[in-house]
Amino acid sequence: MKVTIDRDGCVSCGTCRDTCPDFFEENPDDSLSQVTEKFRLGKNPAQGSPPKDQDSCVKGAADACPAEVIHVEE
Ligand code: SF4
Repeated sequence: MKVTIDRDGCVSCGTCRDTCPDFFEENPDDSLSQVTEKFRLGKNPAQGSPPKDQDSCVKGAADACPAEVIHVEE
């Protein structure tokens, strides 16, 4: 599964970080959400691939994001 965060549209509400703290974190410089380093695809903080046991958690975060900026591709 590939996850992309459209970080420009993130309003930093914290919902994804609260829902799935292993996968989402706050960027210390701009306070927007990003993928935790261990799950990133390459060096892009806006893209990642969760392990299977995080799939439902990540999908739940995507559904709960009020800005609808977390995109999940199977
Ligand atoms: S839930 Fe969406 S708007 Fe809220 S911090 Fe996460 S990516 Fe940003």
